[in-house]
Amino acid sequence: MKQQLLVATHNLHKKEEIQQILGDSFEVKSLTDYDLNEEIIEDGDSFQANAQIKAQYCYEKTGIPSLGDDSGLVVPALDGRPGIFSARYAGDHDFQKNIAKVLDEMTGIENRSAYFITVLCYYDENGATFYEGTVHGNLLTENKGHQGFGYDPIFVPEGYDITFAEMNPEDKNAISHRKKALDKFLKSFHK
Ligand code: IMP
Repeated sequence: MKQQLLVATHNLHKKEEIQQILGDSFEVKSLTDYDLNEEIIEDGDSFQANAQIKAQYCYEKTGIPSLGDDSGLVVPALDGRPGIFSARYAGDHDFQKNIAKVLDEMTGIENRSAYFITVLCYYDENGATFYEGTVHGNLLTENKGHQGFGYDPIFVPEGYDITFAEMNPEDKNAISHRKKALDKFLKSFHK
């Protein structure tokens, strides 16, 4: 029998991407499917805390095993920024402003390594379990490419010479931080 899984998002695209990665053993539902429309305040001080806030909220509202995710870009040379503030580093979901702020702060810094991270929190009657995925790479000094979202135009993953924004979406999704975290989650169910 399929296991229902409530994903803490209203984003249909995210729901479908997760359904596709998890495959037939899960029936993925979203906040929209349960009319959960109040804003979930993500005021945690780590990716883990924010992922748990979302998953626990969904589980407590519905009793259905739930998945929360939190992602971002971590730049070691910037003491880990933008980190949990990735979505609103300079302007709320204003990707170009956020990129400009990171590039500005990187001026004169030689170490341009960075990584994307996704932390998933699965929450059910046993409480919280976490799964992490990362993809390492380097930051350019200017945008390249038009696909994807967020910091994709300045991020070149290790082993490639093009940015995430120059890759076709299937290629990016096959190596992304989100995919790696979801693969770990899936594996834990098939032990
Ligand atoms: P979320 O937790 O998935 O909503 O991601 C938070 C923010 O991190 C996004 O708004 C982006 O700025 C950044 N981010 C997360 N994943 C990616 C990615 O795959 N490419 C580019 N930026 C990302």
